[in-house]
Amino acid sequence: MKNKNLYIQTFGCQMNVHDSEQMAELLSGAGYKLTDNMKLADLIILNTCSIREKAAHKVYSQLGRIGILKEQNPELIIGVGGCLAQHLGTKFHKKVGCLDFVFGTHNIHLLPEIVSSVKKKRKKITEVDFHKALNSISVFAPPQRNAVSAFVTIMQGCNNFCAYCVVPYLRGPEMSRPSDEIIEEIRKLADLGIKEITLLGQNVNSYGKNLNDGSNFTSLIKKIVKISGIRRIRFTTSHPRDLSPELINCFAEEEKLCKHIHLPVQSGSNRVLELMNRGYTVDQYIKKIDHLRKLVPHISITSDVIVGFPGETKKDYQETIDMMEKIRFDSLFSFKYSEREGTAAQKLKGKVDEDEKLRRLEALQMLQNQHTLERNTELEGRIQELLVEGRSRNSENDLMGRTSSWKIVNFKGELDLIGKLMNVKISKAYIHSLRGKLP
Ligand code: SF4
Repeated sequence: MKNKNLYIQTFGCQMNVHDSEQMAELLSGAGYKLTDNMKLADLIILNTCSIREKAAHKVYSQLGRIGILKEQNPELIIGVGGCLAQHLGTKFHKKVGCLDFVFGTHNIHLLPEIVSSVKKKRKKITEVDFHKALNSISVFAPPQRNAVSAFVTIMQGCNNFCAYCVVPYLRGPEMSRPSDEIIEEIRKLADLGIKEITLLGQNVNSYGKNLNDGSNFTSLIKKIVKISGIRRIRFTTSHPRDLSPELINCFAEEEKLCKHIHLPVQSGSNRVLELMNRGYTVDQYIKKIDHLRKLVPHISITSDVIVGFPGETKKDYQETIDMMEKIRFDSLFSFKYSEREGTAAQKLKGKVDEDEKLRRLEALQMLQNQHTLERNTELEGRIQELLVEGRSRNSENDLMGRTSSWKIVNFKGELDLIGKLMNVKISKAYIHSLRGKLP
């Protein structure tokens, strides 16, 4: 059977990146080989995101370009998956005429069937139903050659309904995978040479709640640390309210658990946090950070902040700045509030003007850059253990590795170090990376 070319473009979060890996694996069984040249593709899939308006616009622009390719090659098959596809369903076909199929976040496992059906019948297909169990929709995606780290989905969906967020509507309610299935997948990855795994879920801290077998996130980590070959464990994303004292202790107890946590705070104003339906106060959040830092002094803390949420006054914004000054995050993903259809925030009064949002965002990002550089500079002169991931993006002659605290270190070294854990001395700190030297 002659291989056909598959081009997948991924928008959005790590969950989408991992979903795209699963799509590629499933379609390789149907004779499709990945290409990074869209013009050579027989099948194009856009794995979409709709968390912000900007992400959706990027998808539409790309579909405009793809439509031109289809005019030149009517045999080209075009599909969209991910959150925007889940949101629009059949409406996507009405908006974009060149689409052959639309599949939702619970329907990746149906891809080979969908593509085969499009080929045979040449009719438009939409599959966006939610399924009841995650094990029925999970696909094992073997890592790429020479990969040292891999993603493992442990749960999907969310029950929190934060006022600004579309995830609960697009990924469905929380569903956890049975722990024995996760352990088996990680064992397979370890046998294939993977040293670091990142456990994925919209709210990994609430792992196990729907399983009714006593499992929780900490007990899952304690099982994973026993798998030989796996040297590092990471996870994303966590909800501050569900960060338990047991999990905080786990950072101190389990050497394999990387000393980094991404804990989205979203605002430093209690009034805004309540409007957002986040379920914690700034003080409660800071207490958890203090607890983490007391047990693991050099733990890296990263977070997300939204500026210009409806009703956010200058005073609320200043409280976010004050909180940042107090916590001094290692890095921060910050965004202007983006209204999403169907969310509770859409109905809130007190919309903040776009220019004002931008001013707030820019000032906040400047402050964060100072904090990031300050936190990175604390590492100068220290020895850090890296997992060497590959060549540096900055220079052909350098290698790149990550510290346990998730910081990028570029250094000179031989290619045979890739995939190894090794020590380097940090010689210089920058905002986005560190420079290291082999001792
Ligand atoms: S916890 Fe995260 S995924 Fe869930 S609703 Fe809130 S922001 Fe969205």
